[in-house]
Amino acid sequence: MIPGQNSQDCKKLEPLLDDYLHGELPRATAEQLASHLEACANCREALDDLHISARLVGAAFEPVSEPDPGFARMVMARINTAEQWLQGQRAFWRPFEAVAWRLAFSSALILAFLFAYGLRRAPVATPLAPTGVLVPQTDAFAQSASFSPSTSNSNEVLIAIAERHHEQQ
Ligand SMILES: [Zn+2]
Repeated sequence: MIPGQNSQDCKKLEPLLDDYLHGELPRATAEQLASHLEACANCREALDDLHISARLVGAAFEPVSEPDPGFARMVMARINTAEQWLQGQRAFWRPFEAVAWRLAFSSALILAFLFAYGLRRAPVATPLAPTGVLVPQTDAFAQSASFSPSTSNSNEVLIAIAERHHEQQ
């Protein structure tokens, strides 16, 4: 089979590749696509590309142990890698909805970045004081709690500083 000769079938089946990759197609459709994939190198390569892009996007969700600036740089580097891969992708995609697909892919990356960055920035498992239990509130305890480095909300620190300043006046 000469690549590109069966592009009518490819156009019809290409939008299904993503669902096929995730095993979400009805059995009959999956079998039809599988037999097309056996005959069509273009669609096999497209499926490989989807596989790579899924891994690139998934990489943005990997837990990391680096500090925030390094984390942001690393995610941006991963996005750059993905963009370079996208620019170097096979000409097979271009006759189809390459622009729309590119936009969708970029949006997915941006969402992945925002989501991962948001997760990273969000306070992790802030311990809550048990309700209904009387906790002794000595001055020393209140002070160390207000200025503990584990305070995740900088507004709380600013309010605490303002209140202390007010008390001292
Ligand atoms: Zn094909």
